[in-house]
Amino acid sequence: MQEKGSISIHTENIFPIIKKFLYSDHEIFLRELVSNAVDATQKLKSLAQLGEFKGELGELKVRVTVDKEARKITISDRGIGMTAEEIKKYINQIAFSGATEFVEQYKEKDAATKDQIIGQFGLGFYSAFMVAKEVEIWSKSYKDDTLTAHWTCDGSTEFTLDEPTGEHEKAERGTDVVLHVAEDSDEFLEEARLKAILNKYCKFLPIPIEFEGEVINQTAPIWTKQPSELTDEDYTKFYQELYPFSEPPLFWIHLNVDYPFNLTGILYFPKIKDELQLQRNKIQLYSRQVFITDEVKDVVPEFLMLLHGVIDSPDIPLNVSRSFLQADAAVKKINTYITKKVADKLAELFRKDRAGYEQKWSDIGLFVKYGMLSDEKFYDRAKDIVLVQDTTDKYYTLNEYQEHIQANQKDKNDQTVILYTTDPEAQHGYVQAALDRGYSVLKLNAVLDPHFIGQLEQKLEKVTFKRVDADTVGKLIEKDETTESVLSDDDKTKLTEVYKAAINNEHMQVQVEALSPQDAPVIVTVPEFMRRMKDMQRVGGGGGMQMFGSLPDSYTVSVNANHPVAQRVLAQEGEAGQKLAKQAFDLALLSQGMLKGEALTAFVKRSAELLTAE
Ligand code: ADP
Repeated sequence: MQEKGSISIHTENIFPIIKKFLYSDHEIFLRELVSNAVDATQKLKSLAQLGEFKGELGELKVRVTVDKEARKITISDRGIGMTAEEIKKYINQIAFSGATEFVEQYKEKDAATKDQIIGQFGLGFYSAFMVAKEVEIWSKSYKDDTLTAHWTCDGSTEFTLDEPTGEHEKAERGTDVVLHVAEDSDEFLEEARLKAILNKYCKFLPIPIEFEGEVINQTAPIWTKQPSELTDEDYTKFYQELYPFSEPPLFWIHLNVDYPFNLTGILYFPKIKDELQLQRNKIQLYSRQVFITDEVKDVVPEFLMLLHGVIDSPDIPLNVSRSFLQADAAVKKINTYITKKVADKLAELFRKDRAGYEQKWSDIGLFVKYGMLSDEKFYDRAKDIVLVQDTTDKYYTLNEYQEHIQANQKDKNDQTVILYTTDPEAQHGYVQAALDRGYSVLKLNAVLDPHFIGQLEQKLEKVTFKRVDADTVGKLIEKDETTESVLSDDDKTKLTEVYKAAINNEHMQVQVEALSPQDAPVIVTVPEFMRRMKDMQRVGGGGGMQMFGSLPDSYTVSVNANHPVAQRVLAQEGEAGQKLAKQAFDLALLSQGMLKGEALTAFVKRSAELLTAE
């Protein structure tokens, strides 16, 4: 038999189009051809199991070889092979119609979409023409008494097909795909380059792949096994293989579903050292053990992108554009499943080993909060296992904490006021004042906490958050009782005036208040609302918040009417009174960490004068 013919496809000259646009991803040709070889081998194994193939299977390896001189790359398998008729059907029709479809989708798209398609479109056999100017197939079917089929094509729509006998006959069952590498694809004749490509895409393929006399893959990676067969060491070892320079993971989740979609994989919770590192190690996406991409956006919920590991699913459509992927029902189900699994795992850890869970909280807290903020369903699943920590370093769940502060921290409107500090050192005075009152103070100093606080205020009933320095301690949680002022109204007005003159700053709102004599003589606070806007803006919250950046800082200066200093200031005339007032005010600034530069120098000097005055 000797045949020449035309491949029946609609698009003429697919070759130049694909070649031109796929420049960034030419390397996937090897993934496609090796996968085909593996599939053909698997098919033969199945036939043998079914009893339909009765011959010797022999050693079922896939071999990749390169001959730099002859400019040839050969991918050989000992799988089912193809007869000439089958090549016409599978290669001429199926493979090329797949390519046609690809070009049709591809032509219309803008550059960004093209990039996405490139990574996700399984181009199949045709991708060989991205690097080869001519491709030959030598194949011999597993079926008895079939001839060698020999097909050649130069990427145009023309092919030749013959059935050579004698010295050109193929001795062994299986298929050799020979690529005659094009001049502009020299890089693929380099052994190192080929090895790197095989390592990237074929490292976990289920049939041994031999390159340069060495098997380059693990045919049974641990995610394909049952969790009961595996030890902790297996999991950590595998993690090290995936991410050689990372610290050991905190814990992991072995994913395994076969209904209503097929998915296996292992997700690791990494040790998060600093947030900049987060994106470096990515989750790898596989389809039947073939590496597809580490751009798992859309397949994995946004907030789970912080995790590491592998996901393997033949149900994730790889040959469609990104927008389609987002809408895909299987992908949505996978998303929901993974979210649930992660929440279940966290809940299990929390239940089984509370102490261990608390220990890991500094690593997983960010992740849990991020999940709660970005995913309603995750909020519902995680709300009972999210932890808060008070200034004594004790951890509570939200319920436990509300219970804990119930008695003491309800205001007159029956609102529970949760006090927090963003910096226990800098806000020490305020924290101490709150603790002295018997209040509890939470440490909420993570980047996401301003958002987290906002979310909890919306979700929890009758709960508000206030930073400890939002007001004087007596007013942080407003109760019905009031402290009587020892000053007359006249004295209060006079005191206000003295302070205003001494401070001489329009952003400082002076007010005289009846605080306890044990409180500081002057307390500077930042109203919760104003400060929160600024916090939100710092972490990049809400585009509409920009305006607050230009607002001047606004402070409340509470002068304690019941502190002996108030009496002394009133007793002094003119300058001397102002000097004392200024000193008391500076002390308040100092305790806020706000006294700096010239003002600090002036304060130190004034202190020395006052110390030597009497
Ligand atoms: P896909 O693999 O997605 O079906 P391809 O274009 O890669 O598409 O291949 C088309 C068909 O050609 C395959 O489905 C298979 O039947 C056949 N084929 C390709 N490579 C081989 C091979 N090495 N051995 C046997 N059959 C093959």
